[in-house]
Amino acid sequence: MSLVALDLGTVDHQARGLGKRRLIVQIGLVSLMVTTALSGFFFTNAHQQALIDLREGGRQMRIAQEALMEAEAYVLNRAIGDSDNQFGQYNRALDALHSRRTTQLALLIPFVRTSDGNATAADIIDSLESSWNEVLELARAGRLNEAQALLKERRSAAQVGKIRGAFDAFLTDWNSHFALHETRIEIGKLFVLFSQILIGAMMVFAFRSAARDAQARQAAITQVEASHKQVGHLFGMTDMLQSAADHYDANAVLRATAGELIGGFGGALYVFNNSRDRLVLSTSWACKDSATLPETIMVSQCWAMKRGKPHINQGGAKALCCEHHVSGVAALEIPMAARGENLGLLQIFADGTDAEARLAAILPLSSALGDAMSLALSNIALREKLRNQALRDPLTGLYNRRYMEDSLERYVRLAEREDRKVSVIMIDLDHFKRLNDEHGHAIGDAVLREAAAAIVGALRETDVACRYGGEEMIVFLPDCDLDDAATKAEQIRARIESLSGTHGAQVSASLGVASVPSTSATSADLIRAADAALYRAKHNGRNQVAMAPLRQGWRSRSEATMDELALLPLAAE
Ligand code: GH3
Ligand code: MG
Ligand code: MG
Repeated sequence: MSLVALDLGTVDHQARGLGKRRLIVQIGLVSLMVTTALSGFFFTNAHQQALIDLREGGRQMRIAQEALMEAEAYVLNRAIGDSDNQFGQYNRALDALHSRRTTQLALLIPFVRTSDGNATAADIIDSLESSWNEVLELARAGRLNEAQALLKERRSAAQVGKIRGAFDAFLTDWNSHFALHETRIEIGKLFVLFSQILIGAMMVFAFRSAARDAQARQAAITQVEASHKQVGHLFGMTDMLQSAADHYDANAVLRATAGELIGGFGGALYVFNNSRDRLVLSTSWACKDSATLPETIMVSQCWAMKRGKPHINQGGAKALCCEHHVSGVAALEIPMAARGENLGLLQIFADGTDAEARLAAILPLSSALGDAMSLALSNIALREKLRNQALRDPLTGLYNRRYMEDSLERYVRLAEREDRKVSVIMIDLDHFKRLNDEHGHAIGDAVLREAAAAIVGALRETDVACRYGGEEMIVFLPDCDLDDAATKAEQIRARIESLSGTHGAQVSASLGVASVPSTSATSADLIRAADAALYRAKHNGRNQVAMAPLRQGWRSRSEATMDELALLPLAAE
């Protein structure tokens, strides 16, 4: 079968593997998101804390700087004779400097340039303070000139300038640090923002593809289920076809399965006739107008049969369209073959604009349907062949004596029950022993075969010809009275006689005719009467027909006609 059968277990297994991988990716993305958010938070937080510390450090440094300036200003004012009304302020400035001796002032060390190179900012301020105290003592004592000289001598202004320079250098450095932290905070924020956007986008992508996968998985499961269902139908069909005794049964199974398997499409089945020269319509289903289907199709008219491949005939005009195609619908044509033998043609019909695409889509299913049906047809043909072999005589091809005895009884009973007639003609070739002796057994066989063919050629389809034994043959003629049977016997006699000369031998036959109910009542009587008539034909000189005598009180049709004719003048009178 050309069906693609998907395995639900495989789909499930694949989906589970995919789902596991996707879950790992999603967990990874969420972890990355949390990690980047947290590290961004700690990074910016650390830099913010550093900024706070820097801001406070700068503030303290400015306080120290202002304190230095205030103390210096006070001492200078006192040295030039200004009043002592700001002393408290001077003391607060000194306190401010003292309290920052180990903190802010210590930070100035790298920025202080001194001649000895070892002095710290605190040392310089200590020496300044001692100078200032001495200057203030002199000023309080009114010795202003000495105070001013001392300031000059101790180079107080230069010292203060040095410390101020250190303050400025520190604050410049502090500003650059401040800017660096601010930049890092901005970078941290941007990093967190962009990473969150990126990871968020990745998660959206992951979730969307997970949703897509779930959809694809659902579609695959639906397809697998449909495929299982189709396989189930096909197995069911195969199972039922095994019980199909003949074409009638097989067609019924095909119609039922096609309805289930490819619902919405019409169809038809053509099988070869006995002479295998044409395809004959065997059955059709769901056709809008089944009357338009051709009764027979010649193989030469059909591309699918000629190419041995499926073929689609489109509804409209198409370059390669079978001659037998009925316009108005599109048809998928599937040639059927089994065991190396062409068996027939399966047609699936569709109409509408997308008919061709729909037919192409069901090609695998239709082929599987055709395969199953082909096997069934092949089996039926095989069975018929075997049955024929069991029922037929191999030399003449006529039914054998066993079949004759079985069926004659049935024919006679049917005739009795339905008040119908049945006749038999017993045929015996004349001087056949002599023919054999003079021309050989092979010629005898050939004459026997030709005589059988001559008999069959004179019969209707419902008549049955059997080989009774040796060179004797018998024919049943249902629905045929004695007179018609005698006419038929005469035709047969003439046909057999006409075989004379074919093999350089005289050929003729004697025939005995009997009939139910005119000459006999039972099948045994019938054979006996025909045999007796045949004996009379032989006795009267052969190559002639003899009829069995009528039963008592029975008038033959010809006698009745004569009687009626004789009565006519009486009637006129
Ligand atoms: P009659 O006209 O009285 O019927 O004479 P007959 O010779 O036909 O009759 P008879 O019964 O004496 O001989 C029948 C012969 O038919 C005997 C046999 O050799 C021959 N015969 C029977 N079956 C066959 C067969 O299958 N093939 C051939 N070649 N001959 C057969
Ligand atoms: Mg005989
Ligand atoms: Mg004979």
